[in-house]
Amino acid sequence: MQIHISNTLTRSVESFTSARAGVVRMYSCGPTPYNYAHIGNLRAFLFPDLLQRVLRVVGGYKVQWVMNVTDIDDKTIRDSAVGSAEWRTEMGEQSADPKQNLKRFTQFYTDEFVRDIEAVGIRKSGFYKMPFATDYFPQMQDLIRRIAANGFAYERGGSVYFNVGAWRKADKYGKLFNIDFDNFQEGVRIDADEYERESVSDFVLWKGHKEGEPAWDFEFEGKDVVGRPGWHIECSAMAHEILELPFDIHTGGVDLCFPHHEDEIAQSKAGYGVEPVNYWCHNEFLEVEGEKMSKSKGNFFTLRDLLQKGIDTLDVRWLMLSVHYASRLNFTFAGLESGRKARLRVQEYIYDLWERAQGAIAPATTHESAQSLRTSVFQELANDLQTPKALAELFTYLNRNPASGVDATQAASLLGFLQELNNIFDVWHFSARPAQMLNVPPEVQHLAEERWKAKRSKNFAESDRLRGAIAALGFVVKDTKDGFALEKA
Ligand code: AMP
Ligand code: ZN
Repeated sequence: MQIHISNTLTRSVESFTSARAGVVRMYSCGPTPYNYAHIGNLRAFLFPDLLQRVLRVVGGYKVQWVMNVTDIDDKTIRDSAVGSAEWRTEMGEQSADPKQNLKRFTQFYTDEFVRDIEAVGIRKSGFYKMPFATDYFPQMQDLIRRIAANGFAYERGGSVYFNVGAWRKADKYGKLFNIDFDNFQEGVRIDADEYERESVSDFVLWKGHKEGEPAWDFEFEGKDVVGRPGWHIECSAMAHEILELPFDIHTGGVDLCFPHHEDEIAQSKAGYGVEPVNYWCHNEFLEVEGEKMSKSKGNFFTLRDLLQKGIDTLDVRWLMLSVHYASRLNFTFAGLESGRKARLRVQEYIYDLWERAQGAIAPATTHESAQSLRTSVFQELANDLQTPKALAELFTYLNRNPASGVDATQAASLLGFLQELNNIFDVWHFSARPAQMLNVPPEVQHLAEERWKAKRSKNFAESDRLRGAIAALGFVVKDTKDGFALEKA
């Protein structure tokens, strides 16, 4: 099916075509492992996970999905430093070598991150690559040299900067974000990785060494500028090295439009001479009472926090996926709970279908085909990942076609579709209803065990009597390969 996706470059929903036939190359700005991810961050990873699944399942593409780990930036350096409050006992002794501290610190939080994303259904095995920025210094340095050779970078005080003033004369700076140039002054420089639109200025590509920080050699225009990369150059160099330019899709949270993604475009174009990305896709924020969930505001929950409150991680996945990625999502526990009910409603339907697919059951009273449901649900997903509309189609179908009116053949084809849909949502189980969910009363369980014993000792009269007693209590007992199973009559 043809996929449509909203492209921040054009501010419109566009028909998607991959640059290479049948394969989508996609890059997502990944975690900065300086602490546990909060569930706002997880939204920024669940969105590309949804996108790549829709591209595969609905669009029929192969997807090469790259998500980097920003294991070197201002925050990881700050919090991995000796004496910082962020070291945890699990990480072991700090070293006198800042590089070792940075590695151990970021590896710890990367491992925690992988645990978190797996818990919400993002499979690490689904990534084409999950590169660490610190493994790509030669590529970053090569890109900085290319930018300088083209006249858009210069060294000052041991750091290297991108010359925004020169670049503005060559190309547009502000392709994703309306940049406010009112305060722009030629040649004013900024060293921080993150800055506001009011501070638009020459941004840093390579930062000169500061006491106590990890540093690497870099020969730039005949000078040894010891230091480390700025944040923005990392993604430009990694994406180019791993996916080649131009690639298809680049994702991130809306806060990354400026400066990170704007700077990425400028660097890649200034250095490699190519517009790097065809579709820029951004997810909106997870909010708490109208404010972005963020570490700095302190209004955040980690997945651990939610697990301690007894929340099922599948409900977190479901909540995020059931709201459109480009809408703000206000996080509440009531929202999680009502989402859970909706998710389990579908689960119940699946258990019912499973039962009906097994046996010869009364003729169907419903005639809406699984195929028509598939078409309407997939059309909504193909239309800029309209998950709320896709799920509305599903629930309308469920309401109009109760499982009790479905025969074995229809049940099997509905199960086939729901399994396909679960390759996207990944929140349902496909099996018989687990026994404990039946709420089997203890006396029924006891009678069934007695019947099983009678049957094994070939006392068939007694086993038939017990079957009748079980039926009188509203249950059917069936023999299985290695025991018995109970179902509601
Ligand atoms: P960081 O680990 O801070 O680099 O952030 C990782 C990703 O999370 C980025 O794509 C951010 O845009 C995104 N992000 C941060 N806070 C939120 C939030 N409250 N809602 C959605 N995405 C967020
Ligand atoms: Zn990035």
